[in-house]
Amino acid sequence: MSNTAEVLIAEDSEETRYYLKRILKPLNLGITEVENGDLALEKIKEREFDVVLMDIVMPGKSGLEVTKKVREELGYLFTPIIVMTAYNDEELIETAFKSGASDFMIKPLSKNEVLSRISKRIQQRNLEREMCNARAIAEKSNREKSDFITRLAHELKTPLNAIIGYTQLTKIKSDDQEIKTNCYEVLNAAKHQESLIREVTDLTKIEAGIIDICITDIDLFQAIENSIHLVQPMADEFNITLNKPLQTKLGYLVKADYTRLIQVLVNLMSNAIKYNKADGKVNILIKNDSDQRIKIGISDSGIGIAEKDIPLIFEAFNRLGASNTDIEGLGLGLPITKKIVELMGGVLEVESVENEGSIFWLELTGCALTHHP
Ligand code: ADP
Repeated sequence: MSNTAEVLIAEDSEETRYYLKRILKPLNLGITEVENGDLALEKIKEREFDVVLMDIVMPGKSGLEVTKKVREELGYLFTPIIVMTAYNDEELIETAFKSGASDFMIKPLSKNEVLSRISKRIQQRNLEREMCNARAIAEKSNREKSDFITRLAHELKTPLNAIIGYTQLTKIKSDDQEIKTNCYEVLNAAKHQESLIREVTDLTKIEAGIIDICITDIDLFQAIENSIHLVQPMADEFNITLNKPLQTKLGYLVKADYTRLIQVLVNLMSNAIKYNKADGKVNILIKNDSDQRIKIGISDSGIGIAEKDIPLIFEAFNRLGASNTDIEGLGLGLPITKKIVELMGGVLEVESVENEGSIFWLELTGCALTHHP
């Protein structure tokens, strides 16, 4: 593809066309010239120009009619069309912009004005083109990365499934208690490995920006209710009381991806349960202090986090002291959660007092309902 910028001059006066070509010569452009509106439309249909210089008054279709058709019928919304007119008339210029013109020049055309306006437009077009190419390269590389991660996860999981399957079979078939116990340990390790593959895949995809986030309006009470339902068995196992938010309002809508919002809430609630104390509490709160933002707080009465450790909890594989305890985890939940929240246009913050408890604040765009949806 040639790198020369292409300009179309649509102008009925041969003298003006000649004048324009002469002053544009130093810019080394590819120039096409036509003397009426119909030909201009035909040429633009054939190819998208980098800049179009369009006389308003021409035989056949006027420059404004052509501009309108280029935008509405050909769908070239961004081709820079600079209209040229002999009349410095405000109303005409306004109509030109309404028809889709990008700019205008008053005749007689000044050499410096023509040169500087066209150079600026061409610079912009080159920049847009470079950005477009860079985006296409990044998208291709992300697609390749995503395919690679998916394949890798598949290759890692296949032997693991065989290990899990055969171990389960051996455990069922054997009457030997020691073998049964060993199988139990193998199965635990294999399950751990399975979660690791799943979470590392998720984090890698999120970091490479290759997960689909579909933002819709979500009923927040419903999302909290559904998440509580998922973590209730765990809360029962740890003997932790889960308290729902007080339903003082008719409800709240938040802008989020439903599945990912549930993933975030479940992860924060599971942590609040896991890192709690015996017979502890987890409270879910909702705040709507600022316009268009909703804060969801997940507070616990647990072990808390030392101030110096707070930034570390969002680092992958950093479990602080938890790796020396029998609390299960991989140290990937919070880094994944934070990235997802940010991809949904939200913020995740934490306040914590050691030995007293923590509160994780998830802030999203949303509003309180004033009537039932
Ligand atoms: P995991 O729970 O798998 O270890 P996370 O990424 O979810 O990983 O959390 C990272 C670390 O942050 C945890 O290992 C724990 O030390 C600390 N942490 C997370 N949530 C809490 C909480 N609610 N209270 C105290 N510590 C927490």
